[in-house]
Amino acid sequence: MRYKNALQHSIFKIISQSADALCIEAYVIGGFVRDYFLERGDAKDIDVVAIGSGIELAQHVANSLPNKPKVQIFKTYGTAMLKFDDIEIEFVGARKESYTEDSRNPVVENGTLEDDQNRRDFTMNALALGLNNSNFGELLDPFQGIEDLENKLIKTPLNPDITYSDDPLRMMRAIRFATQLNFKIEEASLEAISKNKNRIKIITKERIVTELNKILESDKPSIGFIHLEKTGLLEYILPELTALKGIDEKEGQRHKDNFYHTLEVVDNICQTTDNLWLRWAALLHDIGKAPTKRFSKKVGWTFHGHEFVGSKMVYKLFKRLKMPLNEKMKFVQKMVFMSSRPIVLASDVTDSAVRRLVFDAGDYVDDLMTLCEADITTKNPRKFQKYHNNFKIVRDKIVEVEERDQVRNFQPPVSGEEIMKTFNLKPSREIGVIKEAIKEAILEGEIPNEYEAAFELMLEKGKALGLTIDN
Ligand code: ATP
Repeated sequence: MRYKNALQHSIFKIISQSADALCIEAYVIGGFVRDYFLERGDAKDIDVVAIGSGIELAQHVANSLPNKPKVQIFKTYGTAMLKFDDIEIEFVGARKESYTEDSRNPVVENGTLEDDQNRRDFTMNALALGLNNSNFGELLDPFQGIEDLENKLIKTPLNPDITYSDDPLRMMRAIRFATQLNFKIEEASLEAISKNKNRIKIITKERIVTELNKILESDKPSIGFIHLEKTGLLEYILPELTALKGIDEKEGQRHKDNFYHTLEVVDNICQTTDNLWLRWAALLHDIGKAPTKRFSKKVGWTFHGHEFVGSKMVYKLFKRLKMPLNEKMKFVQKMVFMSSRPIVLASDVTDSAVRRLVFDAGDYVDDLMTLCEADITTKNPRKFQKYHNNFKIVRDKIVEVEERDQVRNFQPPVSGEEIMKTFNLKPSREIGVIKEAIKEAILEGEIPNEYEAAFELMLEKGKALGLTIDN
């Protein structure tokens, strides 16, 4: 069967002519072909496999293009890459791979198209379309990848036990694709992943995080996290999450399963935001609950201070996974730390509490509200509606308080310098005391967030501290 429609982009004709001119067989393979059959939209990456030198083919293609793009050559891998329009095209010579125990980087030798298809991770990723004139658009599907696509099934071309053990990154990729595409993973694969889970140790943290991010960027990340948990991979990657699993019961009192609750929160938040870091915050918002869990006869199960403990754990987790320790991490920490604030507030929405919330959350107050709304997972429709209504009241109040008091990114209306000048002071403790008193009075609503009122209060506080005005 020929699929010339898939190869409408002008680049394919040029590759075809170059391949014929060099007497090299060439195929487009992998994600591009898969995504064509899945109708996943225009691909930005094209992988071309050559039976022969991929580098030579790439250079010939580049010379045939009007703008003669630069070819980037990666000698060690025998691959070459060039950009045309906004598409990246990677050329590689067909290869045969064999693996050693301690590395996911195989020993490589030249091979046939079949060898190359054998080394692919999944049947759907081994699909290839011919590029030479003689077979332009012809589908080569040795492992019934199309059938698996139709059945929404992730399957390895060869024995899954060997496939995953050879390159354990494929375990993460299987789970990631299952999440992105809402596909099933074949039973034998799931068993092989469970069996080989400890092999994940040879994969770099960066690659694991890339896959985790792709799972979190999907519409329903819980699919991936449930697979990660059931296969035992999550225990290696994010033990903070598996520690949330389970329901304890004492004296007839039970708490909810915080692991499954967390996954619901993540799925919820994915419906309202694409912000990856807010999605991370949803994933980690309850991690402090495992170490802070207590039971007392009087109050039952408690997780006192879990937000503070959780925010500290975020740092360690990011560090362990070699994730950025920059403002993204601080944002996640802040969200975790503040994750209960709007809930506490919702039962009694006072102006001063809202002002404090806006003051503490700053620019992230909307993200915080989004997180708290996603946190509503009650199955009781009456309560669900009530909690959402309460947050709606909080959101309205935030807008009102903001318009009036402007405490987001609060700047003190009277500066330290002015306090020093007024009372003829050198830098000293009193300045801090006065500034704090002004800030508190504004947040409590005792004075408006304005210069005159703050100046008055400064004079009053200075007097109370025994300071004299410098005339
Ligand atoms: P995406 O772009 O969503 O990550 P993709 O399948 O295009 O999907 P790439 O990482 O670009 O992902 O890989 C291109 C192709 O290379 C895959 O379709 C697959 O055939 C092959 N491949 C990638 N990684 C592996 C691996 N770890 N083991 C075997 N084959 C792989």
